[in-house]
Amino acid sequence: MSGVESTRPVDFIRAIIAEDLRTNKHGGRVVTRFPPEPNGYLHIGHAKSICLNFGIAREHSQGRCHLRFDDTNPTKEEVEYVESIMADVRWLGFEWGEHLYYASDYYERLYECAVELIRRGRAFVCDLTQDQMREYRGTLTEPGRESPYRNRSVEENLDLFQRMRSGEFPDGARVLRARIDMTSPNLNLRDPVIYRILHQAHHRTGDKWCIYPMYDFAHPLSDAFEGITHSICTLEFEDHRPLYDWFLDVLKLPNPPQQIEFARLNLTHTVMSKRKLLQLVQQGLVSGWDDPRMPTLSGLRRRGYTPEAIRSFCDRIGVAKRDSMVDVSLLEHYIREDLNRQAPRVMAVLRPLKVVIENFPENRVEELEAVNNPEDVAMGTRKVPFSRVLYIEEDDFRESPPKKWHRLSEGAEVRLRYAYIIRCDQVIRDGSGRVVELRCTYDPATLGGAQPEGRRVKGVIHWVSAAHSVESEVRLYNHLFLMEDPGEDREADFTELLNPDSLVTLTGCRAEPGLAGAAPGSRYQFERQGYFCVDPDSTGGKLVFNRVMTLRDSWAKIEKAQQA
Ligand code: ATP
Ligand code: MG
Repeated sequence: MSGVESTRPVDFIRAIIAEDLRTNKHGGRVVTRFPPEPNGYLHIGHAKSICLNFGIAREHSQGRCHLRFDDTNPTKEEVEYVESIMADVRWLGFEWGEHLYYASDYYERLYECAVELIRRGRAFVCDLTQDQMREYRGTLTEPGRESPYRNRSVEENLDLFQRMRSGEFPDGARVLRARIDMTSPNLNLRDPVIYRILHQAHHRTGDKWCIYPMYDFAHPLSDAFEGITHSICTLEFEDHRPLYDWFLDVLKLPNPPQQIEFARLNLTHTVMSKRKLLQLVQQGLVSGWDDPRMPTLSGLRRRGYTPEAIRSFCDRIGVAKRDSMVDVSLLEHYIREDLNRQAPRVMAVLRPLKVVIENFPENRVEELEAVNNPEDVAMGTRKVPFSRVLYIEEDDFRESPPKKWHRLSEGAEVRLRYAYIIRCDQVIRDGSGRVVELRCTYDPATLGGAQPEGRRVKGVIHWVSAAHSVESEVRLYNHLFLMEDPGEDREADFTELLNPDSLVTLTGCRAEPGLAGAAPGSRYQFERQGYFCVDPDSTGGKLVFNRVMTLRDSWAKIEKAQQA
């Protein structure tokens, strides 16, 4: 279940565009658009569409990509969403320049187009109730029936439509419908509704309108108004394409755009529908749209994902016409790869266990040299303080070590990264028998990797100096859902399928002193632990880290297994 398309030089959409350029179909122009509805925050699925549309535009000298808000439903749309969408597209690395549009800017033109349809006898005002309309519509196997209002005169339709606009009728009293074919096997062509009455203020047009165009009508016309050449959308619109073309054809709009559908991105262990994401936010099941567990771009950003990693992921999955589920470990693979290259290594202890080096003088501090990134020498080195009292990771010590245990146990030796070999001489327990402190000795001759003759110490562990380290909180994230496909069980309430351990918060963690004051968004590799990013919840006195990802790359394992 990798859901990854085999690497091809060009995908089928780019092939269509190349052919259109060859035949000069659009006079050499390549104009795409990304058309979000501002009713939620963007998610990783939108990133696929953004990378595709803006990416294609970038590949052509006469290419451009518009950002268009499809804001035709005033009941669900908000300015907050508009702003977050613009910030997210820019963060991903794309720019629309002067080509920012809103479908609501076209309300007047759309209205005129609707009037034109009425004049041509191709639209009518219908008084059927919603229930009746559903009944008249027929089914996949039965043709629909014509509305009794279908044969109203042009004059009567013009009059009623104008009165709908002027606010004479209540919500739902009437609609404007295209007059196409009630027997069409394609239900979308059975006289679809194109305008509805909604006495509702709009975030941009205020109270100016009380009728609003439907998506299927507004979309092809907006595309045509803007001179879009290739209108790329997801597969669920395939059955709407005949309607898309019908409007363009009947209204005789010049340079009709071509709609092309591709498969939407689905990812394992998460949900992608905006309705479900909104529900998680509204019910407080996550801390907000930018909760680091969310598949939203703002969540991934807060978690510590880089735009480069997301773009690499989108490149890799490609585009195809078949729906599939992509393994989330592929996304995780790309963030690891990116952070492995650019994140400085530091030492932090998540579950501290106190170590006292008894033969190290009380007040002495040694500044030891540590490498910032072995993958990139240009990132240099830094000094970390070593002193008598240290912290190591609780689980780097075992009271009864298993075979081949190379880390610490009573009487055993281990190397402290960038420092010395130490031996554990004594274990201190509290009243309940819990190990609370280790008494150790260090060997001054073993600094920085020196291995005196005959010494066989295999384990290397990380540590921090107790007095110098900075206190921090660390938030460990796991998949939001344990199931691969939480949408699979249609009966279950998906919120009941949430992973109870999707967030584990550790307090009292200790990081090396260089991290004090690190800015939110800074990313590090905590040696042996994973990649971490400073959360905006950090305050002067306490750092908060989000675990971006553990070090173990499960995608590499999957790939290896596939090749085997
Ligand atoms: P909803 O979740 O309410 O169905 P939507 O996800 O389609 O809405 P839009 O704001 O209409 O949200 O999406 C903007 C664009 O992003 C559309 O062109 C849509 O096809 C595309 N898109 C949305 N979800 C995905 C996805 N999972 N994969 C690829 N493209 C997507
Ligand atoms: Mg949509």
